[in-house]
Amino acid sequence: MWRIKRKKKDVDPFSLRDKHQRYYQTSTHQRWRLAVLNRDPLCVECEQQGVIEPATVADHIESLTNRWDLRSSIDNGQGLCALCHNKKSGNERIAYSKVKQELTVNSTMTELNNWFE
Ligand SMILES: [Zn+2]
Repeated sequence: MWRIKRKKKDVDPFSLRDKHQRYYQTSTHQRWRLAVLNRDPLCVECEQQGVIEPATVADHIESLTNRWDLRSSIDNGQGLCALCHNKKSGNERIAYSKVKQELTVNSTMTELNNWFE
């Protein structure tokens, strides 16, 4: 019966995303967001380019996927404008879809292996 036993270490990135979505609804997150925007009223990415742009999004420097433990740490937050935030989360989404692709390939391989066993 060891065959059907699931390893506890296995993390399902699909349910992780739901967990993150739920976290964004909490008052802890709302407070964190206000604290970050209060500290960084200007977009930090634009500021590095010498552009003054008001920050409208509180962004996690280390994403929730990488550092769930830092989700409510103000030091892990930065104020971004919508454009810079979309650029950043766009990159993260590409990384996520790569993981998804690998998972799909892996599960197909498992199915094939089972077929030929
Ligand atoms: Zn910006």
